[in-house]
Amino acid sequence: MVYFYIMGLRCILEGGFIARESEKFEQFSEWFDRVLFTARIADNRYPVKGFIVYLENGWFVIERVRRRLEELLEEDGHFPMYFPIVATVENFSREAEHIKGFMGEVFAVGKLRLEGEEAPQEAPLILRPTSETIMYPMFALWISNHSDLPLKTHQSCAVYRYETKATRALYRVREIPWNEAHTAHASMEEAEEQVRKAVEIYSKVLDELGIAYLILRRPDFDKFAGADYSIAFDAWNPDGKVNQVATVHNLGTNFSRVFGIEFERREGGKAYVWQLCYGFGYSRVLAAVIAQHGDDLGPIFPPWVAPIQVVIVPIPYKGREVEVHRYAGEVYSLLKGRYRARLDDRPDATPGEKYYFWERRGVPLRVEVGPREVEKRTVVLARRDTGEKFTVPLEGLEGEVNRVFGEITRTLAERSKNRLSEQLVDVGSLEEGARSVELGKICRVSWCGSDECALSLKGSMGAEVRGYRYGVEERGERPCIVCGRPGKTYLYVSRAY
Ligand SMILES: [Zn+2]
Repeated sequence: MVYFYIMGLRCILEGGFIARESEKFEQFSEWFDRVLFTARIADNRYPVKGFIVYLENGWFVIERVRRRLEELLEEDGHFPMYFPIVATVENFSREAEHIKGFMGEVFAVGKLRLEGEEAPQEAPLILRPTSETIMYPMFALWISNHSDLPLKTHQSCAVYRYETKATRALYRVREIPWNEAHTAHASMEEAEEQVRKAVEIYSKVLDELGIAYLILRRPDFDKFAGADYSIAFDAWNPDGKVNQVATVHNLGTNFSRVFGIEFERREGGKAYVWQLCYGFGYSRVLAAVIAQHGDDLGPIFPPWVAPIQVVIVPIPYKGREVEVHRYAGEVYSLLKGRYRARLDDRPDATPGEKYYFWERRGVPLRVEVGPREVEKRTVVLARRDTGEKFTVPLEGLEGEVNRVFGEITRTLAERSKNRLSEQLVDVGSLEEGARSVELGKICRVSWCGSDECALSLKGSMGAEVRGYRYGVEERGERPCIVCGRPGKTYLYVSRAY
């Protein structure tokens, strides 16, 4: 990657075009908070810690992502359901590991005690931090025979976690909008097959958004509370702290034993079902879209999720205002049926002000029309991702816009992938690892496979052990970075949200 500076801003040259993106790498928090607000994504001034208001652009992107994810889940046979937001403490406490993992961060709710009123008779309820213990007692009622399996359900909802660490809008919040899917199967093999499908579905949505990530199997000491094993999607972030956007957990029979989810097998006899749960964090995915693709001006939305996909800006010259506006209107009516298009004909703003306004809101494509375009029946297209401008004929414009959208999507994805590989480094010693973490890198270290060595990395490198690659066999060729025994595979270590 080639960097150079224009007026003190770090720029990169990509495919012959200039992309400005210095600030997010240097002052991520300030950049992110500003972008959330100026691009109308979220307002984090809500007066309850860890809760934010999603504004029109932020929620729009989440809605698009939700629809696409649900479509893919439903194609794979998941049915949508909706389960209550509360559970009793007793139900929640039934799986021992699960309760250990979550009890410290649950919200309790109950009737507000009014002045002079007796203390409430009912014990407080808990707000779901995740829904296993809410759904599985119901699964036990529904499943009794092999013909009831597989059971695959999903719901988009919010879960609540009492974060005690500093909160950050979209990344670390107390109200988390997500989709959670839960499945029950007749055999371990079927459950394993579903793990692969879940990973495939999540990868597809993230790929369509151009997000670059690593799929990592978490070390045993960091798996989901109550799971046999956990797989997570870690997206890179400009400040070097990876952003876990989705997880897939194989629960084995740990929960079915506790909740008594048994079935009559085809070959006779009873057995416990094999279960999975997996979650896709909408707010963190939105954060990844903004953080990975954004530049100094603000977000750059991939066209399929952009609240406004194309904005038309007339450039009137003295004496030719009427024809320019008429032509801009013609372009607008051509595009509005097919795209989320906007005609910016505000009389009190200059074209330059309009460019700036829509760039800051992440609109991926701008159409400019002036007297020259009127005469030649052409338009100028300006790409938000590269700044590239070019003239195309009005005839066939819809097809051209489609083509450019495809190119924008590809460019964003490619750029993001390059960044991820730039952020990844192989390190050979703990000192080098600690230095690299400090620089915001994701470190790959050789590992013997023992829990003790993995655990000790956290302290010696000042970072989280994220796990080893899922779906990619990486054989360790060097000795373990901690103990020096032969390496089995590679562990990924970085700071994290
Ligand atoms: Zn070791």
